[in-house]
Amino acid sequence: MTEQDGPVAPDQDHHTTTMEKGRFCVAHCTCGWRGPARRARSLARADAEAHPGAVTGGHPQC
Ligand SMILES: [Zn+2]
Repeated sequence: MTEQDGPVAPDQDHHTTTMEKGRFCVAHCTCGWRGPARRARSLARADAEAHPGAVTGGHPQC
């Protein structure tokens, strides 16, 4: 059983992380939301924190 298998429930927690994508950093959420590519991780993390219902403090990767 994997955690990323199948669609997510709309009422599940929003755990946001930031991930490197090439030269950019992108915010991701467990609900499937993704922020825009940012050059600075601080901007990507700001996007994650601005995501409705976001729970930060996970495992930021960039
Ligand atoms: Zn979300």
